[in-house]
Amino acid sequence: MTRPTEALVDLSAIQKNIGLYRKTVGEDVAVMAVVKADGYGHGAVPVAHAALQAGAQWLGVALAEEGEVLRKAGLTHVPILILGQSMGGQIDLALRYGLELTVFDPETLRQVEDKADKRGVKASVHVKIDTGMGRVGMSLEEWQSGWLERLQSPYLRWRGLMSHFAESDSEDPEFTRVQLGRFLDAVEFARTRVPLPILHVANSASALRYPGTYLNMVRVGIAMYGGKPFPAAEGLQPAMTLKSRIGYLKTVPKGFYVGYGRTYRTAGPALIATVPIGYADGYRRGLSNQAEVLIRGRRYPVVGRISMDQLTVALPPDAPVRIGEAVTLLGADGDDRITAEELADKLGTISYEIFTGISPRVPRRYSVDT
Ligand SMILES: *Cc1c(COP(=O)(O)O)cnc(C)c1O
Repeated sequence: MTRPTEALVDLSAIQKNIGLYRKTVGEDVAVMAVVKADGYGHGAVPVAHAALQAGAQWLGVALAEEGEVLRKAGLTHVPILILGQSMGGQIDLALRYGLELTVFDPETLRQVEDKADKRGVKASVHVKIDTGMGRVGMSLEEWQSGWLERLQSPYLRWRGLMSHFAESDSEDPEFTRVQLGRFLDAVEFARTRVPLPILHVANSASALRYPGTYLNMVRVGIAMYGGKPFPAAEGLQPAMTLKSRIGYLKTVPKGFYVGYGRTYRTAGPALIATVPIGYADGYRRGLSNQAEVLIRGRRYPVVGRISMDQLTVALPPDAPVRIGEAVTLLGADGDDRITAEELADKLGTISYEIFTGISPRVPRRYSVDT
């Protein structure tokens, strides 16, 4: 018997979510499935296979090392773009495994050329413009001063021009419009001089709400996993269910303290259930005395401090539960569902951090509808 705590990933949900984007953007626009951070905690390799079957044509990772994992797992024929910056040995890894690089500074580009020359390959590069994110990427002015000439190198294949939105999840479209405008200026500068590569700027949020941002490809991350890219997003199906089981039950009187720091005291007789999942599994300590779990389709509060490896739930003294009973911490049970957004709100964070925080200690198990 293995650990009763596990993350179940419904690959059919991943496929439905990719299917929704495929249908939304139309045949002429490619879909990149973003599987960085081990597929936002869902498992990059199974997610990548599912997404490709559902019509995604590209994979996106943050690091060369993540691309290496995908190639070694047999994803050999799909284009993989490293969305983040690559330095030193990461460039070698990218070239060895045929990963496409995001570049935005001349020094790195020179290194890429040099390493490609030594290996006798052409490096595929996507050039990143900072249109308002204020993080990586070059300014429009830099783009217009010498980059087209640099990209003519025999050691490079210029594959993409890209940018990233800072605020496409907000209710106000204005800044996204400003960023898209700046990007289109960068495109226009190139269009009059050279053949254009793949143009891509959209993430999950903008691809669902702003058709003008599709260009040639959309990069879908959070929505593929069923996280809401903006609060009003609809039609996405959460893929992950985080489950455990009741390990121990005790009947306690009114006024009984529970857990480290004695932060919870029963208001009346109660049944305290201990569940073998804790903050070392990514069920964050900040959820202590905040979150609820589902048992037999009903909500019960997590009481007392969440420990490293266990937490406690309060039930009425006559609740019809047994040791071994399933406990759902994230996902659906019966008609109710605990979403990553619900947990994120309680922690003052976003669903991305909930998903990526589920630690490697939690076994992932996969299912597909038949
Ligand atoms: C992570 C990432 C995405 C995906 O963003 P979501 O909001 O999860 O859809 C898209 N583009 C880049 C450059 C990224 O780093």
